[in-house]
Amino acid sequence: MPQPEPVSQSRMVDGRVLTNELLTGNLYLLRIEAELAPFEAGQFVRLELEVGGERIARPYSLVNPPHEPVAEILFNTVPAGVLSLALAALRSGDTVGVGQPASGFFTVDEAPAARDLWMFATGTGVGPYLSMLRTQKVWQRYERVVLVHGVRRREELVFQDVIDSIKQAYGRRFTAIGCVSREVHAQGLEGRVTEAVRSGALEDRTGFALSAADGSVMLCGNQAMINDMKRLLATRGMRRHLRREAGHILTEKYY
Ligand SMILES: Cc1cc2nc3c(=O)[nH]c(=O)nc-3n(C[C@H](O)[C@H](O)[C@H](O)COP(=O)(O)OP(=O)(O)OC[C@H]3O[C@@H](n4cnc5c(N)ncnc54)[C@H](O)[C@@H]3O)c2cc1C
Repeated sequence: MPQPEPVSQSRMVDGRVLTNELLTGNLYLLRIEAELAPFEAGQFVRLELEVGGERIARPYSLVNPPHEPVAEILFNTVPAGVLSLALAALRSGDTVGVGQPASGFFTVDEAPAARDLWMFATGTGVGPYLSMLRTQKVWQRYERVVLVHGVRRREELVFQDVIDSIKQAYGRRFTAIGCVSREVHAQGLEGRVTEAVRSGALEDRTGFALSAADGSVMLCGNQAMINDMKRLLATRGMRRHLRREAGHILTEKYY
């Protein structure tokens, strides 16, 4: 099990921006060359830049799996967001501080054991799952994995090539479903991820139940989704997973 790193051991290293690609709308994929210490899929690094004469750092999940050396960050700009707007302005060759080592407990090792793993994300919250899904660990620990990605518009369902290659590799063990809240989405589900669970539409798609008996749940993204999901899952007898008391739900709140 990964242990927390003492704060005194964390340090900033210089990262060199390889690419900073605008994927769609206000969603970017930042690729950084940096000397990354070993990390667990699902962990985050702090990115740091000087903004208005001040050093500003915020946490960002690593999208790349641990065996891939380039740090990949999926981020969106936030209106008047101090760091995200500065990150969006980065160009190839620029320098960005990368906190090392990566940290956090939103990892497969920390998730409750079960037959099925349900990964729920809103927006950029899909990042840590894209890292985990490309490790062996998740497939050794769970028989079936369901990725549910909630976005506003279809074009925000990014990394479809990665998702397709995971489908190819794991076949019926892996289900990926996009939930689009502001557009028609014939290939997936329409509405919020919470609605897909509440209505039963999600389980109609997977063909099996999201239950306390067989399911472990990870939630990553905004607080509103996490709280709504926790309330909804409580009606199915699912509760927060703690080290001292096994439960069903592990969360990572971005904002
Ligand atoms: C563990 C962890 C991992 C994270 N990983 C990622 C990641 O991989 N990608 C990513 O984009 N962000 C991630 N975040 C959020 C990120 O750290 C910043 O909070 C975000 O980029 C905004 O920073 P800022 O300086 O631009 O905004 P600030 O100037 O700090 O303004 C923050 C304001 O924007 C709101 N806000 C923050 N994030 C969002 C958002 N995504 N959408 C709408 N409003 C928002 C806050 O509620 C607050 O009101 C993560 C947060 C945590 C705690």
